[in-house]
Amino acid sequence: LGKVPERLKPVGTTTSICGYCATGCQLKLHLDASGRAINLSPQAHYPVNLGMACPKGWQALDPLDAPDRGTTPLRRTAQGDFESIDWATAVETFVHRFKSIQQRHGHHSAAFLSTGQIPFEEMAFLGCLWKFGMGFHHGDANTRQCMATAVSAYKQSFGFDAPPYTYADFEESDVIVLVGANLCIAHPILWQRIVRNPRSPKIIVIDPRATETAQAADQHLPLRPKGDLPLYYALAHCIIRDGRIDSNSLERTEGFEEFRHFVRDYSPAAVAEATGIDSDTIETLAHQVSEPGKRVSWWWTMGVNQSYEGVRTAQAIINLCLMTGNIGRPGTGPNSITGQCNAMGSRLFSNTTSLVGGHDFANPEHRLKVSRILGIPLDAIPSSPSLAYDQILDAAERGEIKGLWIVATNPFHSWIDSGRLAALREKLEFLVVQDMYSTTESAQVADLFLPAAGWGEKQGCFINSERRIGTLKAVRTPPGQALADFRIFRLLAHAWGCDSWFDSWTDPEAAFLQLRDLTLDRPCDITGIRDYQHIDQSGGIQWPYPKSMTTPPHPTHADRVGELTERRLFADWNYYTPTGKARIHFSPPAPPPEPPNADFPFLLLTGRGSSSQWHTQTRTAKSDILRKLSPQEAYLEIHPEDAAILGIAANDPVKVSSRRGEIIVAAYLAPTMQRGQVFLPMHDRRVNQLTHPSFDAHSRQPNYKACAVQISSAKTS
Ligand code: SF4
Repeated sequence: LGKVPERLKPVGTTTSICGYCATGCQLKLHLDASGRAINLSPQAHYPVNLGMACPKGWQALDPLDAPDRGTTPLRRTAQGDFESIDWATAVETFVHRFKSIQQRHGHHSAAFLSTGQIPFEEMAFLGCLWKFGMGFHHGDANTRQCMATAVSAYKQSFGFDAPPYTYADFEESDVIVLVGANLCIAHPILWQRIVRNPRSPKIIVIDPRATETAQAADQHLPLRPKGDLPLYYALAHCIIRDGRIDSNSLERTEGFEEFRHFVRDYSPAAVAEATGIDSDTIETLAHQVSEPGKRVSWWWTMGVNQSYEGVRTAQAIINLCLMTGNIGRPGTGPNSITGQCNAMGSRLFSNTTSLVGGHDFANPEHRLKVSRILGIPLDAIPSSPSLAYDQILDAAERGEIKGLWIVATNPFHSWIDSGRLAALREKLEFLVVQDMYSTTESAQVADLFLPAAGWGEKQGCFINSERRIGTLKAVRTPPGQALADFRIFRLLAHAWGCDSWFDSWTDPEAAFLQLRDLTLDRPCDITGIRDYQHIDQSGGIQWPYPKSMTTPPHPTHADRVGELTERRLFADWNYYTPTGKARIHFSPPAPPPEPPNADFPFLLLTGRGSSSQWHTQTRTAKSDILRKLSPQEAYLEIHPEDAAILGIAANDPVKVSSRRGEIIVAAYLAPTMQRGQVFLPMHDRRVNQLTHPSFDAHSRQPNYKACAVQISSAKTS
């Protein structure tokens, strides 16, 4: 039989939450005698993934062995090359340069840009170190790109950023409406949870494209891009007109009379053209989502969030759920699914636009509480939040932000209208990139590179989309001199001279215990969690979990069903607003920022192209298997009739031009596209050279989904 490979001879196991998407699957890591992970499999009894994993999860160990891992700190020389330096020199350079910027230009002159990919103990350490310890004001995370809209929508409507659901709701719904959400590709394990639903739910997909999910659904509504806001107002119009509202639920809301008046003008016939959906279909949908006794759940992702009016669109969905009583009960909810593995952790602990632990910078009592529990001087805590991501970059472009510290993210690929960042780079005095790889687009233009440990090489916690906290384990040693971000922050705190403020944060679990205490009496109260072991023994713990909760650990999914049901929010229709009532928000739909015209006649949609690639492919492109499963280069999905008119055949090179740039990619003739629309997967670094820099006014989330482009053949002969 030959020699048995090492990966088939584990001597022990441990568990860890996957480090890619916000589904939060638990993986079982198979260890050799030294405690090193040599293989993995999905955890059978975890109440999230129930024994399943997508290709990214299965290949999670591969990127750790990539040859381009950063193994030493690197500093840019006068000749423009990188030179290897030791950590003492790197830390001294960091502190000297940022202190110099601060002394010359003040506390608003530098910012960090971080991530939803690191444990929340590290996010909190970064935010507290930068703002309280080092005294800078601004910092934001790439979570701005995926879920800021949902945060603002929930905060305004419910009084706190509180996604109300548990994944069990997928299995308990009678009607599942997926909006701008291609779960088959973006959240494949959640799609499997839908498929397992024993109630045989009606699955309705609202999406401009006939995505994989739309094709597998019972019904697909191919709406016009950004036609969803008038569509939901028309549904509200029909539901009110037909008296299909839940009066008990409505009593727990504010603002309904104004809303009733507002939607009078949104009859199905009036919105048919704007939505691209005929009035009969709208009437039928209104009936389907308001049927008394039926459990209707709405789920959305980036098709809603990444929009210039995403907050009002999310709230239009929330309003429908409030009007029909589809909230707080099993199988219901206005449910935003998050993108990154720890975006939810970022929402509570990143200390950027909200104060660490689910608090507000502007609230003096909140600042006092954070000061007391963390032992931070009160005057070190700012009374206003940071600029948002786009505002930080605008300030850098104007020369007001002089220094940037980029941690575990890659904005030179991922930010909207990315071509602009090259000019912006020239304005920066000092750019630090802290990452696993020195080869990302952002690391390549840094002045200082700090090599970081990755998922699998450090401890901490993630929070998934359903508010479940799970732990990560260190099962590999970082290569060379790479260090866990937590340890890098400790080194920098010491060198800056503020380490005494973080004395008790000796390791991630010690930091966790203090962060836990910060949540006392907040909606996200987790003071009932004893330690990491408690989380592991419980199969993860959803917030809130206050001290009063005494639920014993349940090791199997079957035992956990009762507990899962309890963990749904708003069962009593009491919300976190001052009055305890949910607030109905609405605004008239705004015109698209860049509609097609004669010069740029196509509408470009961007999004996830494959379940095997992740974001800027920084990690997933390192896996041979994932590369085989998914093309790395961009391809343009275009309707065959549009392609024929332009003389473009399958696989032909085509030029895609916007007002900001042009790229050449292969054509993919896709009848799943509507005429006049084209799609590019976001994983290719060139795609964001085309996207239009417009933003939601409430959340500052970029509008990645719709800009005007021109398409032409790029065939030379
Ligand atoms: Fe699960 Fe998401 Fe990881 Fe895939 S990427 S295994 S769906 S957590």
